[in-house]
Amino acid sequence: MTRAGDSSLVYSTDGGRTCPVCRQALGACQCAAAARQAVQGDGRVRVSREKAGRGGKTVTVVRGLPLAADALSALGKRLRSACGTGGTQRDGLLELQGDHAERVTAWLQAEGFDAKRSGG
Ligand SMILES: [Zn+2]
Repeated sequence: MTRAGDSSLVYSTDGGRTCPVCRQALGACQCAAAARQAVQGDGRVRVSREKAGRGGKTVTVVRGLPLAADALSALGKRLRSACGTGGTQRDGLLELQGDHAERVTAWLQAEGFDAKRSGG
């Protein structure tokens, strides 16, 4: 069962590899850059307190920020510094170590986001 477009990498006639999404040569492909610019959140910002991983450590998770990855990364850095904690950024959400939900919600609201507490 083969359908055009299913293969992850396509070989062009000159032997160079092309991007499966835009069909440009990989060297000319802008898909990765475009993905970094893509806004992932819907603007309904939710801040929740969750247990992370097998250790069950408490983390504060921020979802829905209407930012591209680069801007999200910059905001995450400022937010972690404001809370004095560490954290990560993945799949369009921010995760901070510890329970900072109230502080994060207030901080985001002060930054002009429509942030709400959600969940526990
Ligand atoms: Zn591409």
